[in-house]
Amino acid sequence: MGNLIDGRSIAEKVYVDLRREIADLKSKGVTPGLAVVLVGDNPASRTYVRSKDKMSRELGLHSVKLELPASTTQSELLARVEELNCDPKLNVAKLAMGDPTGFVPCTPLGVQRLLIESKIDIAGAHVVVLGRSMIVGKPVALLLMQKAKGGDATVTVAHSRSKNLEEITRSADILIAAIGRAHFVKADHVRDGAVIIDVGINRMDDKTNERGYRLVGDVAFDEVAPKAKAITPVPGGAGPMTIAMLMSNTVKAARMFSSA
Ligand code: NDP
Repeated sequence: MGNLIDGRSIAEKVYVDLRREIADLKSKGVTPGLAVVLVGDNPASRTYVRSKDKMSRELGLHSVKLELPASTTQSELLARVEELNCDPKLNVAKLAMGDPTGFVPCTPLGVQRLLIESKIDIAGAHVVVLGRSMIVGKPVALLLMQKAKGGDATVTVAHSRSKNLEEITRSADILIAAIGRAHFVKADHVRDGAVIIDVGINRMDDKTNERGYRLVGDVAFDEVAPKAKAITPVPGGAGPMTIAMLMSNTVKAARMFSSA
């Protein structure tokens, strides 16, 4: 399909640069490290954590995976995170996870990179973000409206209380769906020639699949794709880019901390 934004191949481009950078850091005695903490047993989180761990190892990063029961209290969790932050092998974790001055959350950063690599004009475009969560909706809106390269969009954020949702989404040059509702965005939500970035990851029952389900996005891909100028699939769009941006933030943090 000519209009498909292939997150996997764009992520591969990121890894080519990262491998070079990691080799350079290692030659200076610095191995970037990433700790991932999983609380409870959410299957989507488990899949995501597995992918992060696998990629960290493939890139030769120092990787730590910590699994805690769902009963873990907030103060217990914070204590474990503090322990990890104090581990000299992992002293990058704190920054990589949160410092808003230097590190943009991975999914929003991945969405921006997908747009840039696909040569989609962001400056001056009307971007509609569906969803206002702290990890996707809000930060992606802030990122794309920044007065900076990869920004300068006019951004509208819509959510479950928005009125006339279809009218809002149809006015988008770029529509970013991050609501966690399978196939919510239909052809009627989208104008001809819009760019569609589907962040959603949802399970849909599928007896033909050996797992009994398949992963689908927030966008009804089959009916929306023919109208779109460009569109990301699920899986294979925003997901791989989130992992790639996490690796990128980790290496950036290692470089900053070590001054290598
Ligand atoms: P949240 O549940 O935290 O937020 C969902 C947002 O969508 C809320 O702002 C909510 O509105 C809004 N919303 C829900 N239903 C509707 C509706 N019917 N109409 C309009 N808005 C609606 O989800 P996340 O932001 O954490 O995740 C969103 C999706 O993205 C999920 O499928 C998640 O799995 C996926 N995801 C994918 C990642 C990736 O790497 N590709 C990374 C992170 C998340 P309100 O605020 O009013 O409740």
